[in-house]
Formats: sequence, C-alpha cells, structure tokens
Amino acid sequence: MQLLHTPLRVTGRHCLVAGGSPQSIRLAEWLALHGASVTHFGNETTGHTAVHCQTGTPTASDIDSSWLVIAASDDKNANKELLEHCERTARFCYSIDHPEHASWLPTRPDAEPGRVALVGAGPGDPELLTLRALRLIQQADVIVYDRLVSKPIMARCNPAAEFIYAGKAKSKHTLQQESINNLLVTLAQRPANVVRLKGGDPFIFGRGGEEIETLADHRIPFQVVPGVTAASGCAAFAGIPLTHRDYAQSCVFVTGHLQNGEINLNWRELVSPQLTVVVYMGLTGLEKICAAMIEHGRSADTPAALVQQGTQPAQRVLEGTLTDLPAIVAANEVSPPTMLIIGHVVTLRKKLGWFNP
Ligand code: SAH
Repeated sequence: MQLLHTPLRVTGRHCLVAGGSPQSIRLAEWLALHGASVTHFGNETTGHTAVHCQTGTPTASDIDSSWLVIAASDDKNANKELLEHCERTARFCYSIDHPEHASWLPTRPDAEPGRVALVGAGPGDPELLTLRALRLIQQADVIVYDRLVSKPIMARCNPAAEFIYAGKAKSKHTLQQESINNLLVTLAQRPANVVRLKGGDPFIFGRGGEEIETLADHRIPFQVVPGVTAASGCAAFAGIPLTHRDYAQSCVFVTGHLQNGEINLNWRELVSPQLTVVVYMGLTGLEKICAAMIEHGRSADTPAALVQQGTQPAQRVLEGTLTDLPAIVAANEVSPPTMLIIGHVVTLRKKLGWFNP
C-alpha cells in the first residue's frame, strides 16, 4: 500500500481513522508520529497521547471537521461509503480496500518486480537506524521482523504494511530458518516490496547470509543494509571503548550460544590480556564462559561487564570480574538481550559512562 509513499504533510492537521481492521490503530499511530492530531473510531485503543480513541462510527460532522479521513474498517461496504462521502465533500481520503481511490497518486509504479531488503535495525534506539533503513521500512509492503526489533522501531514502519513475525523458537531452529528463507521468496514473488528486518547488523550472528542465499538461488533482487551491531551499541552506550591504545589493541565478537550444553570456542585465542572479547548470546553460558577463560589462562581479575538491553530505556550494566560476575548476575534479575564484554577496557566505564536512562 502506498500511504507512506505520499508526500502529504499531516503535521498539525486533524485526521480521522474509522477503524476496525488490524491496521487501523497502526495507521492512527503513524499519523500521530508525524505530528497529526488523530481521532480513531473503533474498539481498539493505544497509549499514544496524540490519538484520541472513541468507540462507534464517525458522524458526518466528525468527517467534515477532519482534514484527512482513513477508511480502515474490516467492513468493505462501510469503507466504500466513507470514501464516497469524502469524495462528495472533498476531504482527503484513503481506504485500505481501495488504495487506488486514495486522494493522491501512488509514487511507485505497481508493475515493479518484487524485491527484498535485508535491513539491520540496530540494537534498539530508533535514532541508531540508518537513513536508508528508515526509508525502506517506511516504503515496505511487507515487513518480516524478529523478536529483537524494538517497539519504537516498529512504530516507524509503514503502518499499512503487512507485518509477519519471524521469531524463532530455540528448539526448532533449522526448520524455521528454512521456512523464513522460503517465505521471503514467496512474498517477493507476489510481487511485493519486502523488508526483512533484523536486530543489529544482519551479517553478524544474524543468519542474514542464509536468507539472501535462497533469494539469490531464485534470482530475486535484494540489497543488504548494515545496522549498528549490538556490540557497538552496547559498548558506546555503556561507556566502554572496545579498543584503546593502552588497554586493548584488538577486539573479537564471539557467540556464547550453547550447543548440547557446550560452548564451541577456541578459548586459547581469547585469553590474550590485550584483547577485548564481546560475547553475543552469552547469558545462559555466562558461568561456563568465565570459568573457561580463567582455565585457559586469562587473569581471574580481568574486568567484565554484562550490558542488558543496550541503548534502550531499560539499559542496565552489571560490572565485575571473570571471578565474580556470574554471582553478581545471578543476584540481580537480568532481562535479555544482554551482551558480555570482557577486558581491561571495562574499567574505563567509571570515567566514560554517560547514558543514564
Ligand atoms: N545481528 C545482531 C545479533 C543477533 S544475536 C547484531 O548484530 O546485533 C542476538 C544477541 O545479540 C542477543 O542474544 C544479545 O546477546 C545481543 N543483543 C542484541 N541486541 C542487544 C541489546 N540491545 N543489548 C544487549 N545485547 C543485545
């Protein structure tokens, strides 16, 4: 749908959304996000303060006092009647069933072939999206998103897009990954403008490579948009430089994911005192990771930090050493996602920590 492809300026305008369909509240929130004052009619509600929620259907005077009217009921006849009323009274209008009758022309020709953009959403703070990521999520027809994509980022997506959740259950990994790969192909072939939206950077522990391999096999055009990976986001927002001329000349990103209860890492490569080790998915295996580092020769008093929900309002950082961090974490209620940072650079946080949500 083309709602967001339009250069309509809604800031300061009063808009009316006649709701009932699954998209209606998102449309109302999107208009509010762009500065409109909005009345939404229907049973759904939202916490957005610029959206006034009212039950029932709009009256003729409600319609006539609105600058833009969106017919987003799940009753097609009701949408059509509202559209006709707006046409008679020269209101700007849009209907989810009849986008071709919107008051504005689509800016994108419908005959374009389907395509997929694999987009990195960053670690959560919406202002860390790239300009390209923002443009693509606003123009998408379909958005296939992950558990890690934050709510404020979801709120910036095209509200008229179809949203498909592709979160994975831990146990059914492979099968599900395969069906996500195939889903992207099917969606692009509609044809549709598909965004595959993933937390962080799609090429860092994101299986992004597998997803576009399937697209390549089917000759579906795609692009990859890098995102701020969680290691960079967490380090920056926790005040921990990953490298530093005095303390760490290199850093390495590893996954602490357990396979059959074991962590498959080359520990001997990770114990050099001048190396910062950043561990994705390291919460469950935290105790094993710290013990293995010590066992393979890293000093037991090496500083370590666990960053919870980095860059987000709920960010929290727990600090300790390889010896005591597991107990510190166990004593605190920690919510995922979390990032483990090991190395002397962690001590810089005392001076460089700046983000206090
Ligand atoms: N592709 C992603 C990583 C996917 S793996 C990226 O580049 O960031 C998922 C892991 O990333 C989580 O288990 C957690 O360890 C880490 N992670 C993602 N977002 C995070 C955040 N906001 N704060 C802390 N860790 C995060």
